[in-house]
Amino acid sequence: MQSPYTLTDTHTHFYYSIHTEKMVQQIQRCLDHHIERLFLPNVDSESIIAVMDTVAAYPEYCFPMLGLHPCSVKENYKDELATIEKAIANHKIYAIGEIGIDLYWDKSTLPWQQDAFRTQVAWAKELGLPIDIHCREAFDETFELLDELQDDKLFGIFHCFTGNLEQAHRAIDLGFKLGIGGVVTFKKAGLDAVVKEIPLEHLVLETDAPYLAPVPYRGKENESSYLHYIAEKVADLHETSIEEVARITTLNSKSIFSI
Ligand SMILES: [Zn+2]
Repeated sequence: MQSPYTLTDTHTHFYYSIHTEKMVQQIQRCLDHHIERLFLPNVDSESIIAVMDTVAAYPEYCFPMLGLHPCSVKENYKDELATIEKAIANHKIYAIGEIGIDLYWDKSTLPWQQDAFRTQVAWAKELGLPIDIHCREAFDETFELLDELQDDKLFGIFHCFTGNLEQAHRAIDLGFKLGIGGVVTFKKAGLDAVVKEIPLEHLVLETDAPYLAPVPYRGKENESSYLHYIAEKVADLHETSIEEVARITTLNSKSIFSI
């Protein structure tokens, strides 16, 4: 039977469960909830294999992105980048990610994070790929980099967007979609008020599983099948149906990832 609509999880670490029964069950729960497209970002050189093995196991549902996560930018980041660059040359991927700036865990690595970001943005431009941005407690620093690097070739997603309305507009003006995850279901987070003001044309959905589970699983381990709670919340905020949210956000994901 043809599915009535298709939801797209634009950012999930689903591959952490590779080679487990849990993965088999999770993919079935995803399909039960019409979540038929999962985009998987690695975080460092070590996690490339799990991403690629997962994509090989579920080629019709899973699509890879590769990059170096800002929290994985350490002394050896140039070696990490070299390994990831080689993997990118050897695999079909759909985005450079996740990449970005994270000043929550470690501020001391900011210059390295900036350097790694510039390098990876150059890859994305050369390959015509989107970037998937991780930005935590670093909006000013991230916008500064994007202002510097934006030249009409740069596009992508602000993954796990949790900024205010002004930051949302700034990201959109820079050519980005906002990746909306479980935080939109959290009371007092304030993201719901922002999402309400932003047309669906600028949004994509994500879980960031196994992190940031939406209500009613807040605080528990997240999984991609919970994406439907996020879609329902966005539908409520926009006073529309989950079908319409699925249609537009999946269309947005197709325009970004070209699949
Ligand atoms: Zn992530």
